[in-house]
Amino acid sequence: MRAVNLKADQLRNPLGLQNRQPRITWNCEGGMTQSGYEYEVSVNETPVYASGKIESNEMAFFMPIAAKEKERVCVALSLYDENGVKGEASVITYEAGLDRWDARWIDPEVNPDKKVRQPASVLRKEFTVKKSGRGRMYITCHGLYEAYLNHKRVGDFVLAPGTDDYRKRLQYQIYDVSSLLQEGKNEITVTVADGWYRGNNGIDGVNHLFGDDLALLCQIEVDGKAVLISDYTWLASQSGPIRFSDLEIGEVYDATMEEVSNWHGVKEKDYGYDNLVLSDEVPIQEQEVFEGKRITTPDGSIVYDFSQNMAGYSSFEVNAKEGQKIVLWHGEALDKEGNFTQANIDPGKRNRNGGIPQKVEYICKEGKNVFHPHFSVFGFQYVKVETDCDLSDAKFYAIAVYSAMKETAKFECSNADVNQLFRNTMWSMKSNFVDIPTDCPQRERSGWTGDAGVFVSTGVLLHECYSVFRKWLTECRLNQKKNGIIRNIAPPINDPDKGFSRILDGSTGWGDAIVIVPYTLYQMYGDKRILSENYDAMVAWIGYLTKLAKKNSLKDLFKKNPHKEYVITKGFHWGEWCQPDVNSGDELRNNFTKGAPKSATAYYFYSAKLLAEIAKVLGKEEDTKKYAELAQKIREAYISAFTEEGIVHSDRQCDYVRPLQFDLIDKKKENAALLNEMVKNNGYHLNTGFLSTPFLCSVLAEYGYVETAYKLLLQTECPSWLYSVKKGATTIWEHWQGLENEGGNASLNHYSYGAISGWLIRGVCGIEVKGNKVTIRPYPCRLLDYAKAEYDSPLGKIVSGWKYDAKGLEFSITLPANVEAEVQLPNGQKKVLQSGTHTLRMDFQA
Ligand code: BGC
Repeated sequence: MRAVNLKADQLRNPLGLQNRQPRITWNCEGGMTQSGYEYEVSVNETPVYASGKIESNEMAFFMPIAAKEKERVCVALSLYDENGVKGEASVITYEAGLDRWDARWIDPEVNPDKKVRQPASVLRKEFTVKKSGRGRMYITCHGLYEAYLNHKRVGDFVLAPGTDDYRKRLQYQIYDVSSLLQEGKNEITVTVADGWYRGNNGIDGVNHLFGDDLALLCQIEVDGKAVLISDYTWLASQSGPIRFSDLEIGEVYDATMEEVSNWHGVKEKDYGYDNLVLSDEVPIQEQEVFEGKRITTPDGSIVYDFSQNMAGYSSFEVNAKEGQKIVLWHGEALDKEGNFTQANIDPGKRNRNGGIPQKVEYICKEGKNVFHPHFSVFGFQYVKVETDCDLSDAKFYAIAVYSAMKETAKFECSNADVNQLFRNTMWSMKSNFVDIPTDCPQRERSGWTGDAGVFVSTGVLLHECYSVFRKWLTECRLNQKKNGIIRNIAPPINDPDKGFSRILDGSTGWGDAIVIVPYTLYQMYGDKRILSENYDAMVAWIGYLTKLAKKNSLKDLFKKNPHKEYVITKGFHWGEWCQPDVNSGDELRNNFTKGAPKSATAYYFYSAKLLAEIAKVLGKEEDTKKYAELAQKIREAYISAFTEEGIVHSDRQCDYVRPLQFDLIDKKKENAALLNEMVKNNGYHLNTGFLSTPFLCSVLAEYGYVETAYKLLLQTECPSWLYSVKKGATTIWEHWQGLENEGGNASLNHYSYGAISGWLIRGVCGIEVKGNKVTIRPYPCRLLDYAKAEYDSPLGKIVSGWKYDAKGLEFSITLPANVEAEVQLPNGQKKVLQSGTHTLRMDFQA
């Protein structure tokens, strides 16, 4: 038996880990059960620790020793199988960062008017390396950087150093540059551009948010000794080819300026090192590439269709004459007439500082021009090309760009549209995991809490996204207000204490992500540290909600009601939001004037309940009791305020789904039956919005209405999941109606409704992993002939599928080594299965 998929804090061989005492995890391969493990640790190739045999079937341990500055740690792990036979060792390495920088911050710009957007800066330095060895580059910047050593690109991190609230936290990266360095003379060039730091952020395109000055900090070491630091001896120029650069707006590139001139000195700056942390998440990288199909639209424009909506950029190969120009516009859709449009992602009126154009302007050099933008990322499927170049032998590609998360799920069933829905969810996740989870990649590009909260339990099934969520949670904490409010968006996209958006902060269903996301990560990966890291922030959030509830008077409704302090009627809340038959303007007005008491109170309960569970996991007895009691009181208040003797009366499906999902009511069977009737009477259409849609099918199936759940899933008329698929969608739409949404404001790439794909794996195929426990409880239905899911879980690959045949149903389940599962078939039959492939049957009754 041997260990595979070794990870340190959920990362594979991380070169650079901020946490110097990570948790090592693995899966088992070969053999049935792991009877023990042992590991040896070496630091910089010197053996320092041997664990000896540890008798345990756990596939995780915490490193017993903390790495010191720059140390390279290597862990060789061997497993013992069920017969006590020791297998071959598997190895994982990781490396610690710097405690102290020799490098200085350098400012490459000379133009005193920093408020005016500047061309990207190029920085340069020659240096000598006496003897080759283990080469490391430590680097970060104010802005975004791309570094070249001896004309070769260092690493493949796009949009490095990533996004943060840079005033409080700025990531640096480590690169292995051993093979790029040479003995003797070396040259480094680094291009630095505005990015999140000084370029446009969010829907309002607020720039200069984190500061006015670009700067670089860079240090190269060979065998632990600095051979180069950034300092006053470097040269810089603003006469390079990137004449303008913005994450959202795009890039202006003059290929005739690639020979950089006008070099001048740089200024050392004292920005300090206190906010620097090593980036311990997967890098953003170029991923899939799609070749464009050229079409001419009815208005005569040349448009390339990449047949997949995504986040990334386009690239081209064009033969041209010097000075010819190519302008590219990136968009998600063609309008009703079939012409290129950006109208759905650009509400225009909001566009105060000029965000969104997603445009590239390129001036050609003579001959072959090969290009993609360097510091921009767009949400798009189509590119409109305006040019005087001959495009007859031109090639256009779209390159998807997102955090390098390994895909962990596959799903297939007999309905091709459902399979496409699953693929669309995958793509909306990819498009919105560019360093942090965002709402959409084109319009707002923001780390909205609510979106992460509704999607996280699906996200952890689809990709290895632990490190992305973990980093984003850090941003949520850094952005938390003193009164406990978790702001809607993290990192900030504008000054969080100014303007309209601050009034919207503190919404339930959104801020609760600070509880929901860490708890979901804990349940899936079994690492308590994600709970302790976020515990204080959760407590402060519940503290805020408790104060809000107490402000509550509910005079008219509950004069002497003992429950009134546990119902939230104050504050702004988005509520269920985006329900298909509710005008969002009306919903917003309503939520402003009347609040959203049902959903607000439900989330208050849910977070208090989860916090009690979290406190228990962390061994905090007093808090466990305190929050369990609080949850109980909110529950009683909810039943008293929003039900008639436990029965919900509402014309909204969400009012049934939410209390059923959260265990907020007692009369579950009765309320589930009402929900089922309601869905039937609505012609098997959902009318849920943002918050309840992810739970709708699962709640129905759970209470025995499997067929109703499937009819909802398979519905093709609007509103439904498959409506967008039938319309040719390749990602998940923000609104059920897509481009026909009121006001035409309609992102076509929001992952939130794609949360249903979690149910395809957990519900339809029944795979559930919580820490070390696996249950398989499929919900088959004759409306499909078969369904099959594969999930590369933190415990190893789990496969579960079923298919109907003449006699009944056949289930096929595969479990990895050292994993057992409790299986429950729809007829109630229960079994515990061990590692291996198993076939179970449930025949029709004669
Ligand atoms: C975003 C959402 C977000 C919402 C708040 C929208 O504009 O795109 O996904 O959660 O605002 O309601």
